[in-house]
Amino acid sequence: MVDSLQKLALRLRGTVEFDVPLARYTTYRIGGPAAALVIPESTEDVVEVLKFCNDAAIPSLALGHGSNVLVSDAGFAGVVVRVGKGMDWLEEGVDGPEVWQAGAGVPTPRLARITARAGLSGIQRLIGVPGTVGGGVVMNAGAHRQNFSQTVRSVEIVDSDWKVRTIAGSEIQWRYRSSGIENAIVTAATFEFGRADPNVLERDIQRHFEWRRKGTPFDEPCCGSVFLNPQGAGQHSAGQLIDAAGLKGFRVGAAQVSQKHANYIVNLGGATASDVKAVIDGVRERVLAGFGVELQLEVRLIGDEEQA
Ligand SMILES: Cc1cc2nc3c(=O)[nH]c(=O)nc-3n(C[C@H](O)[C@H](O)[C@H](O)COP(=O)(O)OP(=O)(O)OC[C@H]3O[C@@H](n4cnc5c(N)ncnc54)[C@H](O)[C@@H]3O)c2cc1C
Repeated sequence: MVDSLQKLALRLRGTVEFDVPLARYTTYRIGGPAAALVIPESTEDVVEVLKFCNDAAIPSLALGHGSNVLVSDAGFAGVVVRVGKGMDWLEEGVDGPEVWQAGAGVPTPRLARITARAGLSGIQRLIGVPGTVGGGVVMNAGAHRQNFSQTVRSVEIVDSDWKVRTIAGSEIQWRYRSSGIENAIVTAATFEFGRADPNVLERDIQRHFEWRRKGTPFDEPCCGSVFLNPQGAGQHSAGQLIDAAGLKGFRVGAAQVSQKHANYIVNLGGATASDVKAVIDGVRERVLAGFGVELQLEVRLIGDEEQA
């Protein structure tokens, strides 16, 4: 694989590295090695890589900022396509002043900040979501009643047949923290924003940012909320259930349910994916036993943890 990937690298604008510890590329700071990690610089690069993986029967996986993943300690035996820097271009006013296009590697907080300053509303409350546009689309990331589904007009993807396609926002199967986009790499998204006074948007950002700063363990490696909130009228949030089960501070190895936010499991330093998985299993068991609720994962498991 190394030889053929080295040949592929010559055809790419981006870079290819081998045997790369994924802990470097996740906000958890956890994860074993990827056989190879490609950092593409264009949609054409993504097409080339997916075509190569298909021909060589090697698994591939898209990664953004790694802020919603738990990568197994064994890592990923394939090619990780890290869509970030290199695909972080931004084009303003592509179809009228309120319509902007962003490369999938643009950090969501950057998009939130720049559009708010330009007097464009719709994404400003995602200022504290530390992922990319690509990861945000795939996860339908959201906060404080704003989410990607509300502003995405269309998405450019490279599908599993390495065809570049544009999907209208209205065709995407948006759900709470999901878009139904699987087996494809998002390369860009077009957004349609509303209009608002930049000062009002700045105050909105400050208010939500302050709320977040107080309520989340920003200083400890984590993946944000680990579990989806149970849906349905009158349901308690996952955090409320975990807290009510007395699990704040519950710890295995160096992974711990945060004292600050019960739906966060933090890496106290040197935690393994197995530690985090053991905390996840313990939380699920106790919440099921205590309240009859089966918590579902928001975090995406990568590597052999997928089968766990
Ligand atoms: C401190 C903290 C706070 C958070 N707060 C929130 C919050 O308020 N709301 C919220 O919704 N989330 C939150 N998150 C979770 C996370 O930031 C979001 O889900 C984010 O949108 C993930 O983007 P990413 O680029 O990091 O994706 P990754 O974590 O890299 O990937 C997530 C999933 O998307 C896939 N993926 C990533 N990029 C692409 C691409 N270009 N094409 C195809 N598939 C792709 C991956 O394969 C994986 O399945 C938080 C995380 C942290 C660490």
